[in-house]
Amino acid sequence: MLNFCSNDYLGLSQHPRLLAALHAASSAGGIASHLVCGQAAEHAALEHALAQWQQLPRALLFGSGYVANLAVLQALLGKGDACVQDKRNHASLIDGARLAGCDLRRYPHNDVEAAARQLAIGARGAQLLATDGVFSMDGDVAPLAALAAVAGQHDALLYVDEAHAAGVLGEAGRGSCAAAGLEVAAAPLRLITFGKALGSVGAAVVGEADLIEHLLQTARGGIYTTAMAPAQAAATQAAVALVASVEGEALRQCLQANIARFCEGARRLGLPLLPSLTAIQPLLAGDDAAALAWSHALEAHGYWCSAIRPPTVPEGAARLRVTLTAAHTAAQIDGLLTALAATR
Ligand SMILES: *Cc1c(COP(=O)(O)O)cnc(C)c1O
Repeated sequence: MLNFCSNDYLGLSQHPRLLAALHAASSAGGIASHLVCGQAAEHAALEHALAQWQQLPRALLFGSGYVANLAVLQALLGKGDACVQDKRNHASLIDGARLAGCDLRRYPHNDVEAAARQLAIGARGAQLLATDGVFSMDGDVAPLAALAAVAGQHDALLYVDEAHAAGVLGEAGRGSCAAAGLEVAAAPLRLITFGKALGSVGAAVVGEADLIEHLLQTARGGIYTTAMAPAQAAATQAAVALVASVEGEALRQCLQANIARFCEGARRLGLPLLPSLTAIQPLLAGDDAAALAWSHALEAHGYWCSAIRPPTVPEGAARLRVTLTAAHTAAQIDGLLTALAATR
């Protein structure tokens, strides 16, 4: 089947340079936690490459984006602190705030004024404002400049989850903060995940050196777990080099052309497209049964696009989450559009 629901936005997961780096690395196993003896040359090199690419002081590796979000929020927040979040943030950010035991306040999607009101409540301790840069099930982009401004006004730390933006948005694919022109002072801490446009697996938190040092010393999700395999770190470093290169730029242009082709076709066919300019293009089906039936019918035509249902999305907003990649051809996208219209 043709896959239209992966997060491999640049098609890097099967790139020869990633596979070669994987094989050339020193070890397939993590052997211990980073702080005991797990930190290999490949890990240090990747952290350095990530910081350089992101133009931020420092990076710290984690086994996955899910674990990184739990670890960051648990390390930075506790009783007496507050975490203000977009209602549509990724589950890992919500779970992280719950695990931290802080006061969790969730504002309506992309509503900056509501975020400001929730920050104005204040806290005995610290306040942190967390948002996805690109929302994973809707594909829309957070109003980061405005969120950074209200976070600054209320002395809150802005934490941006770049999972669906890293490699894709902004100059050299640096992500949504870069695309919004945010400097390190405005967005001091960001999550980069490796399982999406970087075509690998794992994650890193990048940002201000003191914050990263604090996470290295205290983030339990980073301390009490085996280091990522050096082979995986090497493959990820190859991906970072690609993403930042002219080849990466060409892949982003190809992805943009594919997104535009899909949107134009879907609009022409009157498909129930939600407003998104990114690789994530949701088609609203309504109830769960409708989404499942649509997905199964597409499967019979040779297209793989899973149905996304509550609690991942709000009740009554079940959907097909079509994702485009740079690896799709124009003919494949046209074929998907025809099948979507025929099976609707
Ligand atoms: C995928 C995702 C994560 C989790 O990252 P993994 O590395 O897959 O665990 C975190 N946040 C967002 C917004 C995501 O889309």
